[in-house]
Amino acid sequence: MSHKVIAVDGPAGSGKSTTARQVAEKLGFIYLDTGAMYRSVTLLALREGISPSDAEALQQLAEESVIEFRLEGGEQRTIVNGEDVSENIRSPEVTTAVSEVSAHSGVRKVMVERQQQYATKFDLVAEGRDTTSVVFQHAFLKVYLVADVVERAKRRVRDFARLGRKTSIEEQVKDIERRDEYDSSRNVSPLTMTTDSLLVDTTDLTVDQQVDRIIELFREKLES
Ligand code: C5P
Repeated sequence: MSHKVIAVDGPAGSGKSTTARQVAEKLGFIYLDTGAMYRSVTLLALREGISPSDAEALQQLAEESVIEFRLEGGEQRTIVNGEDVSENIRSPEVTTAVSEVSAHSGVRKVMVERQQQYATKFDLVAEGRDTTSVVFQHAFLKVYLVADVVERAKRRVRDFARLGRKTSIEEQVKDIERRDEYDSSRNVSPLTMTTDSLLVDTTDLTVDQQVDRIIELFREKLES
């Protein structure tokens, strides 16, 4: 039996995680947060003192890592080598280093294979930077989310505030632009909108509206 994949890509803070998670919940699909996988490898590297530029050591670390997702009280947790790292992988240190770590082809190869494995077992809503262009090239539905950078920064400030961390819109604009530039200009699997992706601008949409829009696109596709 073949499984359906909804692939969602877009720049940092465009609403991918929240939207993809809720779309998955509504459709009874599994939510696959590919960014959490790159963040997990980055966290392990920082802890082990491996440089974000050491391609070989990072690939080995990726290969040896066991990354799992677990649902707890309706929330998806990220478990790495048996430890719940859901909060740690969102730290500023990890966020700063993750783009460099994820730009190595060896690291990506390991992660992409694992991501594709999920689709052999489950219907998925996958989100990241290359789920439409590389990982799930034959996805049932491909969506590219965009939003104005200041709106994206405001969302980040709110997300951090919920975690008890204070940051500013200016700081977040800078961080988002830095990561977007890095993710879009790298040689391996750069962030790009594929010709068969449907563009959804979330700047003026609430989360509910973003979720509804993707479900609407999914139903239209089912009927076509
Ligand atoms: O989506 P999130 O912000 O958690 O992703 C963190 C970083 O991981 C991105 O900035 C990008 O460098 C990398 N990433 C990637 N490919 C993916 C998902 C994330 O390179 N499919």
